[in-house]
Amino acid sequence: MQTDLGVYDPVLTIGTVAKMLDIAVQTIRMYEQEGLIIAYKTEGGHRMYSLHDVERLRCIRKMITEHGLNINGIRKMMSLVPCWGFKGGLDDECRQCPVYYDAEGPCWAQKNVGSKCRLADCRSCPVYRIEFNCTTIKEVVFGHKRDIKPLSNQEQKK
Ligand code: SF4
Repeated sequence: MQTDLGVYDPVLTIGTVAKMLDIAVQTIRMYEQEGLIIAYKTEGGHRMYSLHDVERLRCIRKMITEHGLNINGIRKMMSLVPCWGFKGGLDDECRQCPVYYDAEGPCWAQKNVGSKCRLADCRSCPVYRIEFNCTTIKEVVFGHKRDIKPLSNQEQKK
């Protein structure tokens, strides 16, 4: 049987994700409470995760264990993503959104969001679905793929 599993499909239980990353279930719950990830909730209230969530969690773990960031620092870093770039561009609605001025955490973790996002499903939003791993941090912060080639040795000496 052929399956067409997408990276955003929430098919992994919290226990499976914990085993994959060798972390405690409680740690994943805590990251969710802190707004670093969004779990998909089944009708029965069970949390499910996608491969994209796993990569997000893997990067969060790396930032903590290898790069010395704490949860607050990661939250602030995530808050720098210019979400308006994924919501039709910066306009007056975005300028009136509290998230535009906030640097406390990612937009999806904010209780008070502007009209463009009030009824949105953040798990399906391109802002949450940004490729999030530790080698693409700048793409995450700037919200797009940079088109910058590495400088040649000659250029670096200038
Ligand atoms: S829909 Fe959610 S994740 Fe997307 S920009 Fe709005 S608040 Fe952020």
